[in-house]
Amino acid sequence: MERTLSIIKPDGVGRCLIGEVIKRLESSNIKIIAMKMLKMTKKQAQGFYTVHKERPFFDSLTDFMSSGPVVVMVLEAENVISKYRDLMGATNYKEAEKGTIRRNFATDIEKNVVHGSDSQESASFEINYFFNSFEIV
Ligand code: UDP
Ligand code: MG
Repeated sequence: MERTLSIIKPDGVGRCLIGEVIKRLESSNIKIIAMKMLKMTKKQAQGFYTVHKERPFFDSLTDFMSSGPVVVMVLEAENVISKYRDLMGATNYKEAEKGTIRRNFATDIEKNVVHGSDSQESASFEINYFFNSFEIV
């Protein structure tokens, strides 16, 4: 069993896509083992995306991620890191496979509805960023 961190980003929450994303997770046999809604400060968004701090999109991305509420979840399944990234689709929704969350709902390379960890190392950092052990059930 593997774990990953999922975020429904401010555009996804604002556009009432929480249920849509959760429905896709549950119908793919991905188990939600922790979940909460919160609004990040700019500093918290910068800390979360620290791997991207030298990227040209960092400032805009962290403004966006702190612009409204997000839903953060810990997901569990076999190979869930790649399984969930397959459900999300490519970062750029224009290149994402048909039927993926981003292809279906993203409006912009930045406003792409969902986040998912990209490796076991980042999953562990990202899960611990938002959840303590008592919140993972
Ligand atoms: N992003 C952006 N412009 C880019 C690349 C990425 O605004 O050229 C944003 C987008 O919201 C993306 C996030 O930064 O989801 C993190 O980028 P990453 O390359 O890690 O993509 P992801 O892992 O989310 O697919
Ligand atoms: Mg990433």
